[in-house]
Amino acid sequence: TTPSASAADPAAGAAVKAADRAHVFHSWSAQGLIDPLPIAGAEGSYFWDYDGNRYLDFSSQLVNTNIGHQHPKVVAAIQEQAAKLCTIAPGFAVDVRSEAARLVAERTPGDLDKIFFTNGGAEAVENAVRMARLHTGRAKVLSAYRSYHGATATAINLTGDPRRWPSDTASAGVIHFWGPFLYRSAFHAETEEQECERALAHLEQTIAFEGPQSIAAIILETVPGTAGIMVPPAGYLAGVREICDRHGIVFILDEVMAGFGRTGHWFAADHFGVTPDLLTFAKGVNSGYVPLGGVAISAEIAATFDQRPYPGGLTYSGHPLACASAVATMNAMAEEGIVENAADIGERVIGPALREIADRHPSVGEVRGLGVFWALDLVKNKETREPLVPYNASGAANAPMAEFAAACKRGGLWPFVNMNRTHVVPACTVTEAEAKEGLAALDEALTAADAHT
Ligand code: PMP
Repeated sequence: TTPSASAADPAAGAAVKAADRAHVFHSWSAQGLIDPLPIAGAEGSYFWDYDGNRYLDFSSQLVNTNIGHQHPKVVAAIQEQAAKLCTIAPGFAVDVRSEAARLVAERTPGDLDKIFFTNGGAEAVENAVRMARLHTGRAKVLSAYRSYHGATATAINLTGDPRRWPSDTASAGVIHFWGPFLYRSAFHAETEEQECERALAHLEQTIAFEGPQSIAAIILETVPGTAGIMVPPAGYLAGVREICDRHGIVFILDEVMAGFGRTGHWFAADHFGVTPDLLTFAKGVNSGYVPLGGVAISAEIAATFDQRPYPGGLTYSGHPLACASAVATMNAMAEEGIVENAADIGERVIGPALREIADRHPSVGEVRGLGVFWALDLVKNKETREPLVPYNASGAANAPMAEFAAACKRGGLWPFVNMNRTHVVPACTVTEAEAKEGLAALDEALTAADAHT
């Protein structure tokens, strides 16, 4: 099932690239400075280009192909649904949408039993915030620095990374606070317990100074992903839950990246025994085979919109092809033990190997994660923890990370790189042999980062 070098067709690849450069406008990019790799195909944990190079996908694209590329059951479900009913407005009752909602509700914690479908993560965040504002009659939303919630109007304001800066309207009632992150503690904490206690006290104080009666919601990624896979200390999320309850604030957990097996549970919230009022999801729900996201809604918030209309909707909400792929994905993940595989590979293979790699490489400051959701925090100096590249570096200042990424690709590994970090986020279906192959390539590529310590 792997592509052979004989499948290489550089001329076809050049044509694909030329066509791309003619009319495709790429996200997050200076259009004249990019060189997109033409892709010929993908299967399981791998994808390949037209030059005969095959890459082990340690990024899961944008951390979404939890079931791997081209899973046959999901491909078949999309084909069958396409033959039956390609599209229908959201107002109708359709078997495949009802089943997708049932399967999501069955997996989400607590009483999050009503599902509002969207086309992706940012729309899920937009709608969760709107629900919280209408439910509470309040406007402000608190979110964490070191977070990513999406690129639409409110979602980008909520985001706590530099991508917010150019489009921040500063008008959406968004307040940022510091979440827990012991390795780079905002609170000068030295233990997980201190970090947890001080982060909760800081949140309490932020709420007191903003005015609890003006705060509709607190939104957090259960395990912040893009910003660095920072597993929160035990007790933090339960503490936030208690604070929200005390002040009548809606607690939104964003599980767009952490959900559907990524952490070795169906949802990251399962690790902490915490149930939010609203839970946003996307990505892994159907591995992105057809765009899909959504909000899982508590009974209490759903009741707000029982006799009063919910003012929000999308032409493609609960799209039949997306829902069919979600049903097939969730069923295949259950039948094939894919969530259990993510937990097992993380605990037994990836975690121990990364810790051993960290011991040998001067550039690896910290290893953190769980399941198939890991980050290496790369540093110039292990003692001072100075990041390998400055915050939000680009161009020459970012050369150490660019050299590291290029070394990974030369070794047949497609990495996820963000600022001074590389994330190890393969498919939840990754085998032990594939994980070891990728870890060996990562190990070798890290010597390029070591050169800058
Ligand atoms: N929330 C989180 C936690 C995410 O990781 C992302 C995407 N990386 C989003 C929201 C936005 O999702 P989308 O790109 O599907 O709009």
